[in-house]
Amino acid sequence: MKKRDVFDYMEEFGHEEVLFLSDRDTGLRGIIAIHNTTLGPAVGGVRIWKYPNEKSALMDALRLSRGMTYQSAIAGADFGGGKAVLWGTPDIKNEAYLRALGRFIQGLGGRFIAYSDLGTDENDLSQIARETEYVLVVRDENGKIIDASKATAYGLLWGIKACCNTVFGENSLKEKRIAVQGVGNVGKHLVDYLIQEGAHPIITDIDYDAIKKIQDKYSDIEVVKPNEIYDVDVDIFSPCAVSGIIDEDIIKRLNAKIIAGSANCVLKDIELSEILHKKGILFAPDFATACGNIIAASSSKILQPAWKRFESAKYVYDIVGNIIEYSQKKKISTYKAARLLAEERIEKIAKVRRIQRF
Ligand code: NAD
Repeated sequence: MKKRDVFDYMEEFGHEEVLFLSDRDTGLRGIIAIHNTTLGPAVGGVRIWKYPNEKSALMDALRLSRGMTYQSAIAGADFGGGKAVLWGTPDIKNEAYLRALGRFIQGLGGRFIAYSDLGTDENDLSQIARETEYVLVVRDENGKIIDASKATAYGLLWGIKACCNTVFGENSLKEKRIAVQGVGNVGKHLVDYLIQEGAHPIITDIDYDAIKKIQDKYSDIEVVKPNEIYDVDVDIFSPCAVSGIIDEDIIKRLNAKIIAGSANCVLKDIELSEILHKKGILFAPDFATACGNIIAASSSKILQPAWKRFESAKYVYDIVGNIIEYSQKKKISTYKAARLLAEERIEKIAKVRRIQRF
């Protein structure tokens, strides 16, 4: 079989541009993938991860940036999809390293706008922002920066409620058992929201410090080992850690009726959405449940007052509800339904953009 090169993958995924970055002085090695800019500049997280090899870094960049195109489209935002993946462990980052990345991003002239993701946080974004204006920052009515992962978690909460409405006939999460995989930036806020709602979260993480922070706040929270999270008896499984963790074996182990989390591209293979559909497990596509911050970011463009920006992440409820309704109407999986809705919006807006503005 012919060895596939980067162009083959770009064609298969439909990418516009893939940029390989290298800076010998800071040790920066990374890829910025720009999938589709029909709706606007490609927005995407900056992920630092210890990839086993160059190919897995490339594939992650391609998959995740395509997911961002769908995420922006389904969120009703004027953004396209992109992703920056940096090869290394988070201890590689320092001021110079992040500023080097900022200079590369600035060089793209606004085609890529960065925000935080696995391995990066708001402090890192501040360093990147010293070299580029193209960093996604959403401010509230007092000019304070809105925490992106909190807005994502808030949107996710409402996405989970939309799923509960379909499966249990009510939005309430009271006494629902919810397995949260990964209590980092998004997961820790989700746990707060779930507890406020009277739900019963069961948490896990590979990082003991992350668990400890939650236990310091909620001393009686149920904690399980990372590999046990798939077997617990729950209503909802909420993956908020890494991509590609759900495969056929994991599906066999899950007891949940709903899968709804923030982890991007959580299915190892998108065909698994069909298996979930047939098994009657409601899968809320991650690009829809995780779009809270994108909604908040784009709310200023649609003339929402600043005080509504964070709150607008709640719109994930309607988005997930529409996807479920469309999937039921067309008798297709929720993943397929969500992609069709996203692609339909991209096509419609592309046509509108043939009209010249003067
Ligand atoms: P994070 O790095 O802050 O947290 C991820 C947590 O998952 C960490 O505590 C990590 O130790 C843990 N983890 C990793 N592998 C694990 C495993 N196998 N089992 C259990 N725990 C594991 O990242 P984050 O910002 O919270 O993002 C979480 C997910 O949500 C990512 O997939 C990210 O792409 C996605 N997402 C994040 C945002 C955002 O605003 N931060 C927005 C949209 C989507």
